[in-house]
Formats: sequence, C-alpha cells, structure tokens
Amino acid sequence: MSTIRTAKKVIYELKKQGFDAYIVGGAVRDHLLKQPTTDVDITTNAKPHQVSKIFKTKPTGLKYGTVTAMYGDEQFEITTYRVDGTYIDNRHPDEVVFVESVEEDVKRRDFTINGILMTEKEEIIDYVNGQEDLNSKMIRTIGDPKERFTEDALRMMRAFYFQSKLGFQIDKATRDAISEMKENLKTVAMERILNEMIKLLQGSHVRKALKSMITTGVHKVLPGLEKGIVYVEQMDEMPFVDAFFILCFTLNGSVPKEWPFSNKHRHRYETARQLTEKLEDFDPYTLYTYGLDLCLLANRINTMLKRTKNLKQKIEYDYNHLPIQSDLDLKLRATEIIALTNKKAGAWVKQIQTEMVIEVLNQRLKNEKSALETYVKEHVIE
Ligand code: ATP
Ligand code: MG
Repeated sequence: MSTIRTAKKVIYELKKQGFDAYIVGGAVRDHLLKQPTTDVDITTNAKPHQVSKIFKTKPTGLKYGTVTAMYGDEQFEITTYRVDGTYIDNRHPDEVVFVESVEEDVKRRDFTINGILMTEKEEIIDYVNGQEDLNSKMIRTIGDPKERFTEDALRMMRAFYFQSKLGFQIDKATRDAISEMKENLKTVAMERILNEMIKLLQGSHVRKALKSMITTGVHKVLPGLEKGIVYVEQMDEMPFVDAFFILCFTLNGSVPKEWPFSNKHRHRYETARQLTEKLEDFDPYTLYTYGLDLCLLANRINTMLKRTKNLKQKIEYDYNHLPIQSDLDLKLRATEIIALTNKKAGAWVKQIQTEMVIEVLNQRLKNEKSALETYVKEHVIE
C-alpha cells in the first residue's frame, strides 16, 4: 500500500540528495481519473544502490532497476530510468540499460495513459499525449503498436486488462496490431498471461474487454477459453474468477495443462467441471463426497449455461439434512471397528467405513453406535 501524499515526501528526499524523481504509471493515471489507487510507482535517475542509501529498501527487482522502499508503513517501488535491451522470445527484457533522461524511460512504457509523470508539486509532465487519451478514454500504445507488441506480447493482454478496469476504447491501430500479432502471445510465459487475465476478470467492464478479445481473435489463442469467452460475453451478469474459469473449462471439456494454476485451484476447477456433468443429480452421496461448496459451484455453472434450473436451495437443504457430512461423523471409530473383530488393521477398515457411510446416507442404516457395531459384526468376514 502507498499513497500520493507520502510519495511526494519520498520524492522530496530523493531531490534533497540531488536526484530527479517523479510519480509514474497507474498512480498518476488513477489520480487524474479521480480513482483510488493502491500502489504508487516512482521513477528516478538515482541508481538502486543510491536509493538504498536514502531509504530502507528491499531488492525486489534489482535486475530491472527496481527496489522497494519503506517509508513509514508504506512501500514504494522505485525504479531507475531505464530502457529495455533486446528481447528474448517476446518475453523478458534481456538486459536493462539505465538512461539519463526520464523521457526515454517514459517511452519504454506500454500505454500513453500509463506514461504520464507527476512531480511532488502535482505538476503533470506528459511526453506521450497521455492526458489527451485519458480525456478521450483511449488505450493506445506509446509508439508503433506492432513494435511494442513485438518487444513484449503481454502488452496485448494488458490492453484488455486496462479496458476492463477503466472501460476505455482500444485505439484502432493498437487493436489492428493485436489482431495481427495475437499469435505472439503463445511465446509469453503463461504465468504472466494468467496474472493479467485474473486482473481483467475483476474489472468493472469485463464484458467490454471480452468483446474486444473476440473481435481481435485473442480468445482463440488462450488455451480452453474460446467457447467460454464467447458464451460469457453474452451473459447478463459477469461471473467471478472461479466461475468464469469453470464455465470455460466445462464448455472446453477439460482444464488445459498450459495454465499454471496452483494445485488447489486446478483440483477445484477440474472437480467442479466434472460435477457439472452430473446435472440434476446432486444425490446424498455426491453432496457428501464433494461437499457443499463445489456442488453449489457446479450448480451455478449449470444454471449459467441454462442446462438445469437453479437447484441452490435444494442442494443447501439436502446437504444440511445429510445424516453425516464427513466420515468423522460416523459414530464408530476405526479403532472401535478393529476392536470388534479379531483382524489386524488394513484396507478392509476403510472399505467397511465407506460401506457404512453409503448405508447411512441412504437411510438404510442408523448412525448409532449399536447399529454400526451390528453392521460390522454381520459384514466383516473374519
Ligand atoms: P494497475 O492499476 O494494475 O497497478 P499500472 O499501470 O500501475 O496498473 P503495473 O502493472 O503496476 O500497471 O505497472 C506499472 C507501470 O509499469 C505501468 O503503468 C507501465 O508504465 C509500466 N509497465 C508495466 N508493465 C509493462 C510492460 N509489460 N511493458 C511496458 N511497460 C509496462
Ligand atoms: Mg501498479
């Protein structure tokens, strides 16, 4: 977290030591739009080691000339004026070259609206006509869009992210360049694409961004999202991140391995996707096995896809009235099961537990100690 108010003090400290510094990027853009911002970036001609002498810092991106400076309880990313060297695979700058002029630094940035500078006196310095584009609500690359997307193809995804966040149009030349160069996204690390995609899905103008992805054809280069994006763009209400991905992967038939989801998320998406195939059949065993959260999620996807009517209330009622919700609820412990027999612990214990769970769920067996004991005695073969 950081604020413009404190950023001004940080700039003042840098200036006191003879350096130049400006607020740059999203914070200036959001400030001029009178929108809240969470992080203020500062650009300076001070080198990282010089910044570190003035503030308590963490070396968060030394390779790119960035350190995180602590000031009070706020944190600022302070980056030395730089240009990016040659690019490898449209991915990361191969080498970073520090430069003397802030104008050069601004010109390596992605969009005009992100290239506006602000001094500690709130004076605006604009080398890229960013203010004009802010006023006309336009997302436009700084310089030739094809060149800029060749340097870093991720910027194409960032154009959609800013559209979703701000509701702006994407300038025609920028849009045309995206249509032409979308395949280059395949060379970008999927973590970076996923990161922008998740931010995009949290914007206030998601539909607008999805629509642009469709008109430029970018939806076709994102693994497994094509059908989902086309479907969601038509929906009345935009789904949240998880529901969006599950809907896409339901229509796609699988969760593509390319997306670097955490194990937890991949499992959640794959399980929910499989559950959507059950349609109306949220029987006690399904509710018990998958739990309330995943069943509701699958129901929500099926409702969005108009495959079933909304079963939310029924699912909640049925789940809350299950005789047991976990095998820990079974009134006979594994140790007690073993003690009832002359057998050693083994796979058979789990097996008889599962059998009893199914019997209890289907109300053919009462979840009472004596009933369960009788069941074990009758069903375990010594
Ligand atoms: P947000 O509101 O999402 O933080 P932001 O504009 O601050 O938006 P960041 O991702 O925080 O975006 O990046 C900070 C600044 O760094 C951008 O405003 C832009 O000037 C520059 N930048 C970030 N990523 C790129 C990129 N891939 N290519 C060129 N410039 C970039
Ligand atoms: Mg930012």
